[in-house]
Parts: sequence; C-alpha cells; structure tokens
Amino acid sequence: MSFRLFGFPVRVGFWFFAIALYLGYLRVPAGTQGAPSLDAWWVMAIWLPIMFTGVLFHELGHAFAARWFGQEPSIELHGMGGFTAWSSLVPLSPLARVLVSLAGPLVGVGLGAAAMVALWWAPVAPGSLGEFALQSLIWVNLGWGVLNLIPILPLDGGQVLAAAMESVLGQGARRWAYLVSLFLGVGLVAATLAQNMFVATALLGLLVFQNYRGLQLERRLGADRPLVDFLRAAQAQLDSRNFQEAQQLAQVVAAQAKQPDVRRHAQHILAWAWLLDGNIEQAEEQTRVLSQQGEVEPALLGALRLALGRASQAIEPLEQALPHRPEFVAPRLVHAWIETAAFRRASELLSSAIGHMISHDAGRQLGVAAHDAGEFQAAGEIFERVFYRTGDGTDAFNVACAHSCLSDEEKAREWLNRARKAGFHEVSLLDADPDLAPLRATSWWSSFRSRFSGV
Ligand SMILES: [Zn+2]
Repeated sequence: MSFRLFGFPVRVGFWFFAIALYLGYLRVPAGTQGAPSLDAWWVMAIWLPIMFTGVLFHELGHAFAARWFGQEPSIELHGMGGFTAWSSLVPLSPLARVLVSLAGPLVGVGLGAAAMVALWWAPVAPGSLGEFALQSLIWVNLGWGVLNLIPILPLDGGQVLAAAMESVLGQGARRWAYLVSLFLGVGLVAATLAQNMFVATALLGLLVFQNYRGLQLERRLGADRPLVDFLRAAQAQLDSRNFQEAQQLAQVVAAQAKQPDVRRHAQHILAWAWLLDGNIEQAEEQTRVLSQQGEVEPALLGALRLALGRASQAIEPLEQALPHRPEFVAPRLVHAWIETAAFRRASELLSSAIGHMISHDAGRQLGVAAHDAGEFQAAGEIFERVFYRTGDGTDAFNVACAHSCLSDEEKAREWLNRARKAGFHEVSLLDADPDLAPLRATSWWSSFRSRFSGV
C-alpha cells in the first residue's frame, strides 16, 4: 500500500499489517477475573488504527524534522516498525541528525503522555473499551518512543549516539558507534535471555548482527567512508540524468579514494555520465583507463561500442548485461542485432531463459527486420516466440508469411489457421500480402478464405 501524506511518499508493507494483527490478537483480554470480556472484533477495530497511526506519527516526526533541514524524506512501514529515508544531497550536520532522530520518539512520548493524562481524568470504566483504547494509545506511542531511544544502531537512540560521537571524534566515529551498539546489544541479549523474553532476544540478536555487519563494512572502507556518501549522491544524480552534477561528485571520489573498488565505481559513473551525455570520445577515453585496470561493466562496454558504431562488438557485452539491466540493455541489443543482421543469434536468445527480457514490440521489430532482410527462417522463429507470449493472431499470421516465403505450404496453412483462431481478421492483408501469393493459388485457399466474414 502506498500513498502521499503531507507531501511525503508513504509505503506500508505486508509484514507491517501481519505484525499489527498479531500484536492486536495478543491484546485481546481473556475476560477472566470478573472483568467483563471485551469483544475481540472491537478490540481489533480499536487496536489496528492506534498501532498504525502510532508508528506513522513517529515516522512523521522524523520526516517533518528532516524536511525542516532541507531534505525530501519518504516513509516506509514494515514488519520491524518504520523507517524514514531521505536522499541527502546536502549532508546533515551531526546536530541536525540528532534533532531529526529525536523528533520521532518525542512525538510518541508526547502523545503517550497526553493519553496518560486522559486516562487519569476521563471517566472510563475499568475493563471498558474506552480504557482499552487509552491504554493502547499509551502502550503504542510511549512504548514505541521509549524503545526507540535505546542507544543501539539503527534505532533512533543509536543514531543520536552516532551523531554525538561524530561531533566529538570526527571521522571514524561511526566505527565506535557500531562497537558501543554491539556491546550494549550483547548485554541486552543476555539480560532478556535470563528473563525468558525470547521474542525480545531474537529482535536484539538481529540488531547485534546488523551492527556486526556495519562494523565489518566500516573496517573495509576505512578512510574512504566519507566518500561513500558522495558516491551514492553521484549515482543518484546519474540516475536522474543530471550528468554534470554526477561528474563533479564522481571526480572528487575518483581523485581521493584509496580503496580500488570505490575508485573504480566512481570512474564507472564518470564514463556513464560522458556516454549518456553524448560525449562519446570522453566516454571512450574513460573506459580505456578502466579496462587497463580490470574488468569494465558489460552494459557500459556494449553501449559505448554501439555508440561508436561497432555494433558487432557490442553484442557480446550487451547479451552479458541483459539480465542485470534489462530495460536499458534490451533496446540497444535489439538495435545491434538488427544492424548486424544477427537474426539467428537473436532468435536463439529469444528462445532462451532470458528471452522474456526482450519486449513483445522489440521482438516484432526484430521479426520484421529479419523478414525484410530475407532471413525467413529466423523471422518465422522470432514471430513464433512472440506469438507464444502474446497469443496475438497477427503474430501467428507473420509466422505463416515466413513459412510461405520458405515454400513450406503445410506449415503456412497450419499457422494461418492458428492466426484465425487467435482472432486475426484483417482480410485486406489476407488478400493482398505478396508473401501469401503461392497459397492463394491453391484450392485450400477458397475454403479457408470463406471462414472470414467480408468478401
Ligand atoms: Zn524512529
């Protein structure tokens, strides 16, 4: 489920609802000890909106704070709660990050405290639905707010801890934040285990694992850690086709990176930006530098060779890249196949496991080009592939044309029948297509033709 709220894109995953239902089920009271039993449906009807708004308001707290610091946040609710992300071109200062991280729990603590006051003053009967609603408001808002303040990454408290350490220790502080989170997490795992709180132990174990992975990544990146944000921003600019901005950011990273993989990623972005901006010479030069030090991303190599007019050399890397970036690669690959008349190769790949990555329309384009080039065998196979996917009568008609051109009248008749059954009804094509001339001279034709309405 996705929608926009106050201009923020919000996405709610399946697991959020599943967990919310489960927690609501746990809260249905047994109705023993003399208290009146609450209707389970009413309990759910009250619980679900409270849980949903509780987690959502928490994230909105983060989102409004982040917007105030010039970011464009988006919200996601999932099985583990919620998450507010922003694509930060303007990096936030440690103080701003502390405030954004605190804003979420503060909303929850505020709402929870208000519900506590209401429970104190309002005339709700013990064991009533009104009392249940107020208790749930406290439980969700206050509980979720306080829980998130535990100083373990990636909880809000952990984010505060990391930002605070960064303002004191500068670069390299994140490693210490991971270490502190790790030790605290292990301590809490032991404590909850001793109390038989197994669900909490499992969740904390997950956090401990995440921090262990974070620490590993931090070790590997070393001094290049701050450059990774630049790299991510460069990639985002490239994806939104802001080529100059992407180049400026990637150039900084390429010049300063000490880790080869960080530097090569930046150089790839540079080459892509040149290429997509239409500066083929610079793209070629950058790619030459890349190829001297290692392997070049196949999609880049293929697209560059195609742009240089070397379509036959572009096919191999493009075929390699097709499964990874189908929407970018497929049209270029089709272009290269047509330009080099590699229709047999195209037909082979269309029948393979990755053939579905070529769109129907691109497949038809290939079939027409093969037909026009006189490659009727390949044209027939290509349209056959397309027909199996579309079930469109016109595609079957084109298979028939290819067979007719190959003088295989039996196959041509078979495919014309298939075309008719699949809804093909363009009698003008039947009567005029020169491919079918040999068939029209046969006695079979008149009986076949009479099955179509219109003379
Ligand atoms: Zn939060």
